[in-house]
Amino acid sequence: MTCRLCSGRGLASLVVVLGLGVGAGSTATGQSKPATASAPGAPVYEVYAVRYATAPGLAVSSLVAGADPSRKIDIPFMIWVLKGPGGRNVLVDAGSYQGPVFERWKLADFVKPSVAIGKIGLAPGDVTDIIITHIHWDHVGGLDLFPAARVWIQRDEFTHYVDEQGQPKDKAIAADDAAMLAKLKKEGRLALVDGDAKEIIPGVTVYTGGKHTYASQYVAARSAAGTVVLASDNIYLYENLEKHLPLGLTGDQAADLRVQERVLRLASSPRLIVPGHDPAVFERFPKPGGGVARIE
Ligand SMILES: [Zn+2]
Repeated sequence: MTCRLCSGRGLASLVVVLGLGVGAGSTATGQSKPATASAPGAPVYEVYAVRYATAPGLAVSSLVAGADPSRKIDIPFMIWVLKGPGGRNVLVDAGSYQGPVFERWKLADFVKPSVAIGKIGLAPGDVTDIIITHIHWDHVGGLDLFPAARVWIQRDEFTHYVDEQGQPKDKAIAADDAAMLAKLKKEGRLALVDGDAKEIIPGVTVYTGGKHTYASQYVAARSAAGTVVLASDNIYLYENLEKHLPLGLTGDQAADLRVQERVLRLASSPRLIVPGHDPAVFERFPKPGGGVARIE
């Protein structure tokens, strides 16, 4: 079985997907919510999921372990936006818009990520930071659309996939994306994050994820509704969490499981956990609409 999501090249090694978990019910035990490592006075963000394309007809079994092989799903490709006070606008992932892998996917409803954020009143130059969860093309390829942004990625993720000359060290990363990350590093715009539970921006903490890629990360942010967790591809669909099922293909089920358990502890409510590719995000959070979901 191959995982189109991972690379478009069908590399099973890239696959990973989600993991699994412990039930959403485990969060309803009344335990105190440690939430993130943010200080009490940290800023509060408006949190949005913004769809930039739709991929039709994916096999659910590639996303959720054990799913009926005949089930198909149209999945959104998203970026996430943390709109903070004082003009701090943080993207979580940058989407994609060009390149051979992008072209191979026949995406529907495509809107360039830099245009899509206009739906929440942002211009590309307004983006101050981009947190890259992992190096797959649909999450990293749009980086050069945002000329002013500082880009955050796990150091181990960067060094595992990109060599000193900007060449890919692994097929999981597209060659043009590797070159772009190396260029950002040369320009001093790449911030390499050293490990887990780092509050890299006030009110925004990153955590190391499962083995979807070598050193993926996910993001917790303070919002008016509490701590929101943007899981990215550590959790593909709500179904993974809600049925406690791993990703369809994963390199490390145990690691995926641990991520899910932890995400449930970190989020102020299970409903504030946002999976990486679930169309239901836009049904559960229907406002403001038009491919934008305000997580609240
Ligand atoms: Zn993805």
